[in-house]
Amino acid sequence: MKQWPTHPDPSYRPSPNSPYWNTELETMDPGKREQDVILPKLQAQLAYAYENSAFYRKKWDAAGIRPEDIRSLTDFESVPLVTKEEIRQDQIDQPPFGSNLCVPTVDLARILGTSGTTGRPTAFAVSAGDMQRIAEAHARIMWGFGVRQDDIVFIGSIFSLYWGSWGALVGTERLGAVAFPFGAGVAGQTLRAIEWIATVRPTIFYGTPSYSLYIAEQARKLGLDPARDFNFRILFFSGEPGAGVPSTKRRIEETYDAICIDSGSTGEMSPWMANAECSHRTGMHLWQDIVYAEIVDLSTNKRVAYGEEGVTVYTHLDRTSQPMIRFLAGDVTRWVNDPCPCGRTYPRLPSGIYGRADDMFVVRGENVYPSAIEDVIRAIPGFGDEYRIIITRERTMDELIVQAEPARVVESAEALRMKKELEARLQARGLRTVVQLLDPGVLDRTEFKAKRIIDRRDLYESIHGDG
Ligand SMILES: [Zn+2]
Repeated sequence: MKQWPTHPDPSYRPSPNSPYWNTELETMDPGKREQDVILPKLQAQLAYAYENSAFYRKKWDAAGIRPEDIRSLTDFESVPLVTKEEIRQDQIDQPPFGSNLCVPTVDLARILGTSGTTGRPTAFAVSAGDMQRIAEAHARIMWGFGVRQDDIVFIGSIFSLYWGSWGALVGTERLGAVAFPFGAGVAGQTLRAIEWIATVRPTIFYGTPSYSLYIAEQARKLGLDPARDFNFRILFFSGEPGAGVPSTKRRIEETYDAICIDSGSTGEMSPWMANAECSHRTGMHLWQDIVYAEIVDLSTNKRVAYGEEGVTVYTHLDRTSQPMIRFLAGDVTRWVNDPCPCGRTYPRLPSGIYGRADDMFVVRGENVYPSAIEDVIRAIPGFGDEYRIIITRERTMDELIVQAEPARVVESAEALRMKKELEARLQARGLRTVVQLLDPGVLDRTEFKAKRIIDRRDLYESIHGDG
């Protein structure tokens, strides 16, 4: 290992004709990459964390793990997993950044965090060096899905504590494209966004899949056709699984006559774009020399074979502030390692991340992922983009109610036919549901991450006791 952490050259840019930002790293033999690039970076990261993070020293001492014992990626599978809850608790015990902050305040560049909608927020403190490496990684990955210097990148997500917007911004700036940091979430902003998009004609969109569909819906109300009157050629997304849900991806691509790119891991892991599709859209590549991803079997904490399903575990390879090492994001996915037409030799997630740990709910003892329901609704012509999933309890049985809207007003006979069709298609996927067809436009739209699951079972418990 020549140098750790790496210091990317801020003046470097590939030739505009090159499909790769770093041809050697992106196309090298995977075994050689593991041995010559990933493992040395990993070992340096482990030694650094043991030296500088009280959090890992305590955890690994308790597990009898020493960084120098890790001589292979198989050895690395014995390192204990870190959970979101552990990080959260550590920050409660040692506010504000926990015992895993490895640099002094003078070295910090930015403070970000989770929204805290599900419990206490997690604080992210990011060093100046890490910001540079994140920018470099994001530029490289954005290059991989086709962004170039003459592109205008519209960033339509909130500029607050949310990593997504900032990651897209620093990647755009490092790549040398034109940043258009429009933001989102302010009253009236969607209408202004439509005006600006139609006038400035940005070529790249970043935001959530839900928001891109909402913008399109509002634009059509103004008599605009997003495919014709806007100029987007690439829309890339994170924050929601939608861009990896086949029928949602198709809807976005048809709506904008542009390609839809799925990306993203989780806030704790920035550079979060280390999971991202290339322009061929064969599923997200795992850019393993940036963030090392393992798809593991939770009964052994070891990697599953390619072709199999497991849950996501991520490890920083180049992070000086709050490094995450074997961080259990816990999202369900399947990985493969067969060739992609782009020539990159990274493994891929061919079906995206279809089971977000945070979104999963259990009905009648079965795990249900909302993305499966979304895929069914958006594959049926005539349905609008919005929906809700409501879980209630009738007597002691869970009931799953799916609320959906037709795209436009329909006669009652047609509404009944649509309801039956949706119920039948969900049933074919093993989901027994009651579909309620609402009027078009009744459900709330979102400018950020949609909250589409409403669990009312607690209400039943509070009225009826434990019965
Ligand atoms: Zn590819």
